[in-house]
Amino acid sequence: MPIKVGVVGYGTIGARIADAVMKQPDMELIGIAKTTPDYKAKTAVSRGIKIFIPENSIESWKKAGIKVDGVVEDLVREADVIVDATPKGVGKANSEIYKKEGRIAIFQGGEKKDLVEATVVAQVNYNEARGKRMIRVPSCNTTALSRISWFLEREYGVERIIATIARRAADPADKKEGIIDNIEFDPIKPPSHHGEDVRTVLKNLNIFTTAIKIPTTHAHLHLINAKLRKKASREEIIDALSEERRIMLVSSEDGITTTADVFELSRHLGRPMNNIYENVIWIESIHSDEEWVYLAQAVHQEAIVVPENIDAIRAVASTLDAESSMNTTDRTLGIVKGRI
Ligand code: NAD
Repeated sequence: MPIKVGVVGYGTIGARIADAVMKQPDMELIGIAKTTPDYKAKTAVSRGIKIFIPENSIESWKKAGIKVDGVVEDLVREADVIVDATPKGVGKANSEIYKKEGRIAIFQGGEKKDLVEATVVAQVNYNEARGKRMIRVPSCNTTALSRISWFLEREYGVERIIATIARRAADPADKKEGIIDNIEFDPIKPPSHHGEDVRTVLKNLNIFTTAIKIPTTHAHLHLINAKLRKKASREEIIDALSEERRIMLVSSEDGITTTADVFELSRHLGRPMNNIYENVIWIESIHSDEEWVYLAQAVHQEAIVVPENIDAIRAVASTLDAESSMNTTDRTLGIVKGRI
């Protein structure tokens, strides 16, 4: 029997998760919950996706002439697992509905860690989600930092990581957020919240993060310095990274020198919605003085958490092991590893 999945919130993250669920051989998308009868609702209907709405919005859907399949509570009752991808804070309010209906729920990085029993990044701690009713997939930055930190910790042991995060100011489709011609401290007094958030996944990691917001929309850029316990040459690190799941290595020799090139690469790879699910690391950026390692990685904030949500669904609602789940996720989403 496929896992019945409902997605609540059909925005930047929710629409991508719904799309990815539809590609999984062991999952069925029961439907999505949406508040606004807009073009996204119309395209979802045209793709055969069932729509569930808040009861108090029924008139606006009737007026827009969009057929709906029930109210949010109906979706929650029909699903085995709910993935909540509503804006920051809304998930907490929704959690009461999931609890009332006795459903397993997966929340996103905008929700506080205290709402859930575990925060999960598949490569690091898939098994922590087992048997839990409420879990969280962390933010895009935390997911990317957790993946690379876990790699360094597992291969060489980490004494300390110092990471600087240049955050995109808004998503491409945002109409209300963003900064123009400015660089903002985020925050001015260090550390940024990201290090603490990474420790919800990697509990004992010695990581210190700072962040700035930059006026761009398509990616974050992380500059990472890691002091390792075991010496490793640049070549050894590149070889090991080439074998690491969900890490894409790119090179300036191929003309990929900026985050805009990474965005363009996603189009040439034929990725839906320009999705880049991998941490994108520039080979030339990798530097080792055999004590400190430095590297730079781009993070597509709109997509990196999508495979994590798919694995999180299996972790809470199936008996599949982490490797098998990630193999299926990576195959169905066309995720690559190593040099592109
Ligand atoms: P978004 O604003 O693009 O989408 C959220 C959608 O939920 C909107 O369409 C909104 O209308 C809808 N919504 C609001 N209340 C609802 C309700 N009660 N029921 C159903 N739908 C409702 O937001 P997003 O960027 O997709 O973020 C969703 C979550 O993912 C947040 O927790 C965010 O922190 C996290 N996240 C976002 C990004 C990113 O870069 N966009 C990356 C990783 C994680």
